[in-house]
Amino acid sequence: MGRTFVANDREYAVPRRPVLAVCADGWDPDYVDDALARGHMPRLSETLDGDGCYLIGRAQVPTFTNPNNVAIVTGVSAARNGIAGNHYRDESGREVQVTDPSFLRADTIHRTAAAAGVGVLCVTAKEKLRRLLAYGGVPAFSAEAAHEQSLADGSPIVDVVGRPAPGIYDWELSVYTIDLALAIATRLGSELVYASLTDFVQHTVAPGEPLADEFYRAIDAALGRALDAGFVVGLAADHGMRAKTGPDGHPNVRYLDEALGAAGVSGAHTLCPITDPYVVHHAALGSLAWVHLADLDQLERARGALASLPGVEGVLDRHAAAEAFDLPADRIGDLVVLADEHTVLGKSRAAHDLGSLNGHALRSHGGLHERAVPIIVCSRLAPARTAGPELHNRDLHDLLLNRLA
Ligand SMILES: [Zn+2]
Repeated sequence: MGRTFVANDREYAVPRRPVLAVCADGWDPDYVDDALARGHMPRLSETLDGDGCYLIGRAQVPTFTNPNNVAIVTGVSAARNGIAGNHYRDESGREVQVTDPSFLRADTIHRTAAAAGVGVLCVTAKEKLRRLLAYGGVPAFSAEAAHEQSLADGSPIVDVVGRPAPGIYDWELSVYTIDLALAIATRLGSELVYASLTDFVQHTVAPGEPLADEFYRAIDAALGRALDAGFVVGLAADHGMRAKTGPDGHPNVRYLDEALGAAGVSGAHTLCPITDPYVVHHAALGSLAWVHLADLDQLERARGALASLPGVEGVLDRHAAAEAFDLPADRIGDLVVLADEHTVLGKSRAAHDLGSLNGHALRSHGGLHERAVPIIVCSRLAPARTAGPELHNRDLHDLLLNRLA
């Protein structure tokens, strides 16, 4: 290795060529396999037929966007970086969005790279991630709020990319995010670029549907533009995606506060850590929920009531869940409830507006069935020196900075 820097006890090589690391939001391996098999990703196919590699790794549980983006940009698990959900219940019992960098308990790879003199850049589709990615002064922009943002020299970023940003519920926003990242990186001379996409398409349609085909064709072309511009390109998904509907096509939901009330558990508070501003994606329904209890003497009663619900496949107490999934024990519930592949968990009927789905069938994530994620590097990797631990999406920067042949 030449020059290096260290983030969270892991050493990274300063890149010799510009690197683009993409967080491919909601890219269940089924989408990638389908798009490759039916010829919708010719550039990716070409690199995989050559030097590139397509691996399957693991996501951080809960398989939500913020915990996995933060795992990827810190290179460490939620137990160490402190981010266990998109939403969190603070000490006063208030639910808050996890968007403030003060929640971070670990440094980011981008901040330590910048401190070592590497030109870094983060671009996210979703504004909700921008402040976390900007931790420590890293230049960070969002496509969602592109019209309000400028470079340090005053240039509006929409002028840098040369076209206005699509809306947050527009399938083209992820393509725009990559183009925005490439345009700003070219202007600033950035050497380590992180682009985090949005999973609106994956929440809305299954693999093989026309919108998915159109999305993957356009993303493939955008990745091709990055390769043509000389970037080393790699991507990892933050989580997979599964249909969460019953045989009648309606969302398959278990409402935990209602079940707990019926079982005589009083004062319980279900928190859905998928909750974020983008309700059209998922109506705040995912396959994992925290339950905070007012009275820990009711823990076994609550656990029994939740475990007996159809579609619930696991109920762990705080410490067992922290141990099993590398979570910060103080930022999860007294109970952690896991739904099966086809089921999501909510608070109560009144707390979720299924009408916000705008008529699309519910597809979501959060549990163990969305844990397998594609990890793709469009360059040759050196053989691993040892049979290391299992590959995770948080290893993306290690692969791109340390493991190229
Ligand atoms: Zn996501």
